Amino acid sequence: MLVDSHCHLNYKGLAEQQGEVLARARERGVTAMLNIATRESEWDDVLAAAEANDDVWASVGIHPHDADHHPDVDTAKLVERAAHPRVIGIGETGLDYYYDKSDRQRQQDSFRRHIHASQQTGLPVIIHTRDAEADTLAVLGEEMGRATFPAVIHCFTASDDFARKALDLGLYISISGIVTFKNAADLQATAKWLPQDRLLIETDSPFLAPVPHRGKTGEPAFVADTLAYLAALRDEDPGALAVATSANFYALFNKAAP
Ligand SMILES: [Zn+2]
Ligand SMILES: [Zn+2]
Repeated sequence: MLVDSHCHLNYKGLAEQQGEVLARARERGVTAMLNIATRESEWDDVLAAAEANDDVWASVGIHPHDADHHPDVDTAKLVERAAHPRVIGIGETGLDYYYDKSDRQRQQDSFRRHIHASQQTGLPVIIHTRDAEADTLAVLGEEMGRATFPAVIHCFTASDDFARKALDLGLYISISGIVTFKNAADLQATAKWLPQDRLLIETDSPFLAPVPHRGKTGEPAFVADTLAYLAALRDEDPGALAVATSANFYALFNKAAP
């Protein structure tokens, strides 16, 4: 049992060979994948992959990069699409001040609309955050004060301090293939102490192929390599870590059935 909690099966690189990609993932023991939406124009395709495959689930959301282009995607629209039986999460959403591809205020407004959809549906928020720790925590703290909601920090690369505060808010933390990179000493140090019962694993494919696949198109099968690395780093049994992170996935995304 092994879950890829965040992949983009409809992105270029994977979409053209989705059948083979899914077959290779299953061969390596991947039993579930969460196919993440980033733009409204993708929603139908992301959902179609989840409808066609029992081991693929879907999210609906707007990436912070694309917040500028989706002023009309409001909470009601997210809630409406989230009612689909294969949609188990809201996102990815969040704040990205590294690329600043969308206006920061628009990113924050969009982030809050996703959170409101989570508060209404009970589905977890999938959060992307880069160079925006203070504002991410400010939004999370304020919104949690209104009504608590489940969430995960996906592709975690933030500080130890941010991790502690996110855990205090009840969030899960998802580790990607970045943890296997040579220059990821800080992330490796954090990944060592994160509590096992709040940990998820993901590929964020087609990006971020882990060692020993660096430079290739990432795909969900590679979550097995990240799991092996993480188990060695944490001095844990790989099988036990696979079971634990899968159980965490189903505890958080509880609309999905194993
Ligand atoms: Zn992301
Ligand atoms: Zn992503």
